[in-house]
Amino acid sequence: MAKQYSRRNLDFMIKEVLPVAELTQYPHYQDYTPDMFDMVLDTAEEIADKILRPAYVSGDRNQPELVNGQVKVHPAVKEYVKAMGQAGMIGATFPYVHGGQQMPGVVGACTEFIHGSANNSMIMFAGLTAGSAHLITSFGTPELKEKFADKMMSGEWTGTMCLTEPQAGSSLTDVVTTASPQADGSFKIKGQKVFISAGDHDITDNIVHLVLARIDGAPLGTKGISLLVVPKFRVDANGSYTVDNDVISTGIYHKMGQKATPAMHLTFGDKDNSVGYLVGEPNQGLKYMFQMMNEARLGVGMGGTYIASAAYYASLEYAKERPQGRRLNNKSLEEGQTFIINHPDVKRMLLTQKALVEGCMGLLFECHYWQDMIHALGEGSEEAKPYQLMLDLMTTVAKTYPAEMGIRSVNEGLQVFGGYGYTEDFPLEQMARDVRIMSIYEGTTGIHSLTLLGRGITANGGKAPQLLFAKIMETISEAKTHDELVPYAEKLEKELGRLQKVTMHLLGIAAKGDNEVFLSDANLYMDFFGIVSVAWCWLKQGVVAKTALVTNSFEGEELAFYESKVHTMKFYFHYELVKTLSLSARLTDTEVLTIAKAMEPALQ
Ligand SMILES: Cc1cc2nc3c(=O)[nH]c(=O)nc-3n(C[C@H](O)[C@H](O)[C@H](O)COP(=O)(O)OP(=O)(O)OC[C@H]3O[C@@H](n4cnc5c(N)ncnc54)[C@H](O)[C@@H]3O)c2cc1C
Repeated sequence: MAKQYSRRNLDFMIKEVLPVAELTQYPHYQDYTPDMFDMVLDTAEEIADKILRPAYVSGDRNQPELVNGQVKVHPAVKEYVKAMGQAGMIGATFPYVHGGQQMPGVVGACTEFIHGSANNSMIMFAGLTAGSAHLITSFGTPELKEKFADKMMSGEWTGTMCLTEPQAGSSLTDVVTTASPQADGSFKIKGQKVFISAGDHDITDNIVHLVLARIDGAPLGTKGISLLVVPKFRVDANGSYTVDNDVISTGIYHKMGQKATPAMHLTFGDKDNSVGYLVGEPNQGLKYMFQMMNEARLGVGMGGTYIASAAYYASLEYAKERPQGRRLNNKSLEEGQTFIINHPDVKRMLLTQKALVEGCMGLLFECHYWQDMIHALGEGSEEAKPYQLMLDLMTTVAKTYPAEMGIRSVNEGLQVFGGYGYTEDFPLEQMARDVRIMSIYEGTTGIHSLTLLGRGITANGGKAPQLLFAKIMETISEAKTHDELVPYAEKLEKELGRLQKVTMHLLGIAAKGDNEVFLSDANLYMDFFGIVSVAWCWLKQGVVAKTALVTNSFEGEELAFYESKVHTMKFYFHYELVKTLSLSARLTDTEVLTIAKAMEPALQ
């Protein structure tokens, strides 16, 4: 089986592109040494090799079913969650005060990449458990932490996020699940939640649901949403968790992909006997949930990227072994068939895959590094503010662009396989199904695009894009010190200018108060922003690679690695960055064909 990721490339990201070792100089990370990060990655590889990779296909072919109210999942899921709990990996990045190990998030992102590329379909169990436990440790009482979060971090219990309702998907304003206060301080929960990942299973004795609900009499809209812990089983008189908490699995969705993780329709309080415990203050639930959503958003962007990585290596291996046709410059029948990797169009598809995967990795790891710098410098401190502003702006981009490009990249990979790619004999068809969800959950591409253009770039007087653009300019200056990179530095500088012009044009429309026209092509603006951001990450990788090449005399694999970086950077600029031309033409075109009044006669 082809490899699914390159450890060399992960090392490049965290040892050469980003100064992750320097994090250990800050008190927050002082208990770590860089070699400890290698050991964490070794452990992650072991779990991927032993448990995750062997179960990737069988987890897909044996999807969970809801039978007599019970859901059984693939046995490897249990092994995986247990191994993650035992290795301390579920809460590894939480601060010590929350029971974690204060490991840099960027290292956690590497382990996620290793696991996700091996079996994206199963790892959600651990990710959701970590995210929901972190909500409890961050905003709940010590009692809630002791009762629930500790068991989640050890892998004894799992967790979920219960936001979506039949009428409230993108629009969480419309959540109607209710929480009625009881004399003992707890709440009776009533409502329906749909699409709840890992919402039911047979791998642990209890499941801890983090539920968004409205306390009786709460204000309308997002200001009236609270967060509650609602376990599947609540505590009995002996302190054991055996009391059925009236959380019923009403249905299971039969999904296109990621089949190893069941998505459940859950009914809370059908018998008026579902009890929940408030996390933090009433009506602050959505604000708290944003912590988990933002963590999950980087996770979803990463999901698009690690599945695309697995697809890239599978199609690269196939292209090197599949003979078909003859080279364009040598059609002689005397010569045997050539391998398809020698056809320029196949090379283009492979380079597209590589350029998208490694470029998006650059953006995602950058965001994780900013998050670590926030912890290193002190959350809320003046020093950490620039990182916080950039992270707030870019989380939405790092979720959306890699998700969309992951889908595209896997599709290119499937095309490399020709007809075989469309069959179950090769993993690409499964990967194509698995990756498709990335642009939908944790906020659709449409919704994130509205956030970026409608709020992100103008928040705090536009400070975040200013900081980001200054960072991009720093890389451009560094690139200009290498003759070979000058044309690329100049290209990016030009496109950055174009992005700023387009942004000013759109903000001019916003200033006139016509929000529908202003935001009508927000999705294309996201694309533009994503392309420029990833071109920056590529230039950054290009500078590191070029510097390594001129200061060392590499041979063999190392020489090939760095040369391939520079070549793929050039490919991204020539094939992807150029798309900004058509995007800017559309975004400054005054003829808007999608707003309500123009649309009516069009969509027949
Ligand atoms: C496999 C899977 C797992 C999931 N796991 C979870 C989970 O664990 N927990 C959980 O709470 N939820 C989960 N979800 C739900 C997921 O987050 C929602 O499906 C998603 O938020 C979209 O909501 P929706 O399906 O109701 O689509 P809708 O909100 O109805 O959107 C439909 C389309 O309309 C567009 N649209 C909607 N509103 C607007 C608007 N205002 N402006 C412009 N365009 C708009 C959207 O972009 C989209 O293209 C999961 C979903 C799936 C499929």
